[in-house]
Amino acid sequence: MSKRYGMVIDLERCIGCHTCTVACKLENGIEQGSWITVRTIGGDGMDTPAGQWPDLKMYYEPKPCMHCAEPPCVDACPIGAISKRDDGIVLVDREACDGCQICVAACPYDVFLSDPETGVVSKCTLCAHRVDEGLDPFCLICCQGEAIFFGDLADPDSEVARLAARDDAFVLLPGAATKPGVRYLPQMAPRGLP
Ligand code: SF4
Repeated sequence: MSKRYGMVIDLERCIGCHTCTVACKLENGIEQGSWITVRTIGGDGMDTPAGQWPDLKMYYEPKPCMHCAEPPCVDACPIGAISKRDDGIVLVDREACDGCQICVAACPYDVFLSDPETGVVSKCTLCAHRVDEGLDPFCLICCQGEAIFFGDLADPDSEVARLAARDDAFVLLPGAATKPGVRYLPQMAPRGLP
């Protein structure tokens, strides 16, 4: 059975420190932005909860490329510059990309970065260069909360597959037919404050 690389991100463990975004920039030499972003789910601004004291709610949502099993970006690219490997990793060939931006519109997860001058796109590679050396993605290595899990979702004995199989595991945009390779575990119910 072929591999299906993916991630589980535990929102209970994410502390919103953005170390993953910095790690991604460093590892992949990204000047502007990052291939993984961390959104505050709560109020209107970063690090801002929803609600009124003491009934406040907030959590953080790290978001890399979902490495979809049915990736609309691959189908949308008119020149075949985006492909899915046999192990499930979806990659952009930046040398081939002509900057048409059609993939950006096709992706429902808003994960592409675009070169401001050429329009050439890039996105999370699941650190394929590291995975091919038997290493984990660098965001996982640097995550302060140990919130990121990586591995073969097709191997039922792997930790990532066991976490992904939890009853409370979920995907972003569950109505989409993309079959994301990134799953999430929910933030637990807010604890009472003294
Ligand atoms: Fe393509 Fe977007 Fe899915 Fe990544 S998240 S594989 S860019 S459709």
